Amino acid sequence: ADGASVPILIIGSGYGGAVAALRLALAGQQVAVVEKGMSWSTPGSDGKVFCNMLSPDGRSFWLRTMTDQPINHFLGVPYNKSISRYTGVLDSEQFSGIRIYQGRGVGGGSLVNGGMAVTPKQQYFGSILPSVDAASMYSTYYPRANANLKVNNVDQTWFESADCYQFARTGRRTAQASGFTTTFVPNVYDFNYMKQEQANTAPRSALNAEVIYGNNYGKNSLDKTYLAAAVATGKVTITPQHVVTTVKPSGSGYSVVMNQIDTNGSTVATKTVTAQKVFFAAGSVGTSKLLVTQRATGALPNLPASVGTGWGNNGNVMVARQNQAWDPTGSLQSCIPVMGIDNWADTGGPAFAEISPFPAGLETFASLYLAITKNPNRATFSYNSTSGGVDLNWQQAWNQPSIDAAKRIFDPINAKQWTIYRTDLFGEYKTWGDDFAYHPLGGCVLNVSTDNYGRLPGYPGLYVIDGSLIPGCTTVNPFVTITALAERNIENIVANDFH
Ligand code: FAD
Repeated sequence: ADGASVPILIIGSGYGGAVAALRLALAGQQVAVVEKGMSWSTPGSDGKVFCNMLSPDGRSFWLRTMTDQPINHFLGVPYNKSISRYTGVLDSEQFSGIRIYQGRGVGGGSLVNGGMAVTPKQQYFGSILPSVDAASMYSTYYPRANANLKVNNVDQTWFESADCYQFARTGRRTAQASGFTTTFVPNVYDFNYMKQEQANTAPRSALNAEVIYGNNYGKNSLDKTYLAAAVATGKVTITPQHVVTTVKPSGSGYSVVMNQIDTNGSTVATKTVTAQKVFFAAGSVGTSKLLVTQRATGALPNLPASVGTGWGNNGNVMVARQNQAWDPTGSLQSCIPVMGIDNWADTGGPAFAEISPFPAGLETFASLYLAITKNPNRATFSYNSTSGGVDLNWQQAWNQPSIDAAKRIFDPINAKQWTIYRTDLFGEYKTWGDDFAYHPLGGCVLNVSTDNYGRLPGYPGLYVIDGSLIPGCTTVNPFVTITALAERNIENIVANDFH
């Protein structure tokens, strides 16, 4: 409530915010979480909380009147659909050279992501977070994150015959035929539930084109794991539909200004809360935008000049191939990916490509891939005093190293299979999905803009605890690393900063 005073305020309820909320509560602290998006717990008139990808409505996108799918054409024809403007679960935030997809709601990105829960190979960890002790991450914090996220693995025997994974088997066969290594990828989606979907003994979710607009069943998103455990302590409140705009020193703590919004995105009330300690967990983009704004407008003028720098897209690039007629991908596809092509050891262009579903409801013979690559380019967020917004200087051309690395996998596969890239999905005659990112990382890098545990220098009691700490690349899908790093950092913060 307006004028309230709380000991700890957490901005955002994604991975970083959820870990912080649980660990602080278990340490006996009272915690208030504020979240910009909705609490996705009430079914709509169709009896479901979320809509699917084949018939999107207002619940799909954050304040748009048209969907903005990553695949925006099909057979050359524009593919997006009209929707009503609503605080939907998936945001595609447009910057000048890239649009960045993010989850909006209690649970953040866990509501919309593919659930792929990948721990990077330890040999690459030094390149991901050079200031962090790898041994303790792999002995303690990665296992802790995996257990609390409820990560599980597909039954490999079932996988070999399940109709819904024909696309993954075709992706594997064509990759292996060119000598590439494929690997099963763990997930937070409950694979026992998925078996029931395939057998038609439970309502379908992953097998009903549900993922980027939310899963009605099966997925262990954060609201079912970390956040549920946090709330069960009795010490955590989560307030949705509140957007934090200002954080500035006040007395011995900070005053935090936030706008309460309705489902049209309009402000219905502005509130000021005082907090002794504030955790920024608004995600790479959300936290970076907040911090560069506070620095530029004089709310937190002494934030380091490095705040806003070091942003990368995890080397994301998408591409599709058209298979031969004897290599179908299936009309029924699970929206939960379970396999990747691991070419990170290729020093000429490291890449890890997830074999993605393309749930069109009919046979397309298309293999779709989201490649994570080693792209050296890094961008900077800056406050724009004219618009009052925040710009990001990433340029689409900076994705060329990612395309080059992906081609090292898919050119040989096409050559061997006598197949071609599809050019009808990312625009009219466009091969590469190189204008968007699913994996924003960085903007407030650990041990550069913060100390080695996320403390902001010069402002005791201010912390960063989300993907903005990671400098641009995790070599695989990022949320397990974001979670494990948050576990490591909060343990140090609880031990040293609370008496
Ligand atoms: P987030 O999860 O983004 O949480 C930040 C939260 O803060 C959000 O809920 C946001 O609404 C809220 N917020 C922002 N600004 C404010 C504000 N001013 N006031 C209040 N609240 C605010 N990663 C994987 O590892 N595996 C996958 O399979 C995978 N698939 C993906 C698929 C899609 C479509 C997308 C979009 C992402 C995917 N990711 C995947 C990426 C993963 O979801 C993110 O890396 C992760 O969610 C980032 O965690 P975070 O804690 O940094 O922030």
